[in-house]
Amino acid sequence: MSSDLLTSLSPFLGKVCEDVVAADPVNAPMVRAWCHALGDDVDRYLGADGVVAPPAMLQAWCKRVATPAAEGQDVRAELLQVCDDAGFVSIVATDCEQRYVRRLNEGDLLRCVVTVADISPLKTTSLGEGHFITFNHDYTDQAGETVAEMTYRVLKFRASESAAPARLPRRGEQLRPAINRDNAFFWEGTQLGEFRIQKCSSCGSLRNPPGPMCPHCRSTQWGWILASGEGTVHSFTVPHYPKVEGLEMPYVVALVDLTEGVRTITNIVDVDPADVQVGMPVELQFDAVDKDLTLPRFHTVPSGTNRA
Ligand SMILES: [Zn+2]
Repeated sequence: MSSDLLTSLSPFLGKVCEDVVAADPVNAPMVRAWCHALGDDVDRYLGADGVVAPPAMLQAWCKRVATPAAEGQDVRAELLQVCDDAGFVSIVATDCEQRYVRRLNEGDLLRCVVTVADISPLKTTSLGEGHFITFNHDYTDQAGETVAEMTYRVLKFRASESAAPARLPRRGEQLRPAINRDNAFFWEGTQLGEFRIQKCSSCGSLRNPPGPMCPHCRSTQWGWILASGEGTVHSFTVPHYPKVEGLEMPYVVALVDLTEGVRTITNIVDVDPADVQVGMPVELQFDAVDKDLTLPRFHTVPSGTNRA
């Protein structure tokens, strides 16, 4: 069956899945908004030498407006459908690489063309048998010169009988965080009613979410401090769709600035989503889900409360 599938997929090689010209040229407001959202140093990019786009912002310029492709013109959907029809119904993104050819400056107008670059022979992985499908993203400027490239690879697979099935939450059940060796200390803390902020042992800078290396000095030595629990809403969104098992709609997902100077993604609870505002003061609470999981979430601060 698999060689049949590879044969059915080969006509897709080299086909264009997407061809998008950026809605706006590289510009200072988008660079500023990006740096603000990611906590990056905007002065690096909006200096005396003019506007330089952060390299990692590459995909932001050509984000397609979410309009469905015309009937029979969605190459990517057709390709995935062929895999589905052959029984390879599962998909997982495996890796993404970007290569930057030159800096992007104010006024550069990007175009991104996505093509099907490679389809691997049948591979056996821990998830099951499948084919790796590589999409190439070619970014060109207004002169048609390549300025950057990106490869994005997915595994389209048939889950093996022995592979552990993905643990999906059942109705009413809490979605659970992926706990690994980099963030285990954080979740051990919430069990104790502590919000632990990782602190570099070398330069002392704080970071959240946790990671193995300090982005400032590259030290891998770290400890933590405890958050006071006070913060303000930096930004938020209220999802109404899609319905996800384990989540009650609508709910508030917020980016909260902690007084210690780092941010966290969390929920604001005990509030009508319509009443949440940017800049609103909030306070940490710990919600025990079960004996193994306690979630740090935030509630609003009653007006008149003195936080000084
Ligand atoms: Zn450091």
